Amino acid sequence: MTITVVDHPLARHLLTELRDRTTAPARFRTLTKQLTAILVLESTRDLPTDPRTVETPLERADGSELPAIVAVPILRAGLGMVDAVTELFPGVVFGHIGLERDERTLQPTSYYEKLPPLQGRHVLLLDPMLATGGSAVRAATTIKEKEPAIVRMVCMVAAPEGVKALEAAHSDVPIFAAALDRELNARGYILPGLGDFGDRLYGT
Ligand code: URA
Repeated sequence: MTITVVDHPLARHLLTELRDRTTAPARFRTLTKQLTAILVLESTRDLPTDPRTVETPLERADGSELPAIVAVPILRAGLGMVDAVTELFPGVVFGHIGLERDERTLQPTSYYEKLPPLQGRHVLLLDPMLATGGSAVRAATTIKEKEPAIVRMVCMVAAPEGVKALEAAHSDVPIFAAALDRELNARGYILPGLGDFGDRLYGT
């Protein structure tokens, strides 16, 4: 499987609180930001850097510099992951993809797309719930048409169905998640999951 489940005690703690139905939106947003930071750090662990030499107050030191990365949240829930990426990578450039799930067919329909140049760049695709995988597959297809160097998917919770779908369509897109849950229910919700991420994030 192309999924990495980030097994850090803090990640498990944050996810447990996210799952808790009594967690209110304000706290849910904070937890989302904290957990995203952990996942994004893991997903960029092997990001190539450019050499950079600086003068310390004492002497010259060899260091490194990050390449410009691009993050693409899938609207609306992916927006909850944006703040963490901005804080970790202030030079990040964002694209946005708006996909809505048809509750009957569970298929994604596109309602918005605005992407910066992606050729040769490192792209993080942000969507907290990898459920059927329909949105992730569609977004990854759109992004890869623009020839980025690398695409990585960062999510909070993945379902086996979503992992399989993304793997089948884009085996070159590794997934970083805090948990791989059991299954989807008939309405496409992840079990045990945490409910509708967007609704819980925004108190809808
Ligand atoms: N989207 C959500 O917000 N939750 C799920 O469980 C599945 C998709």
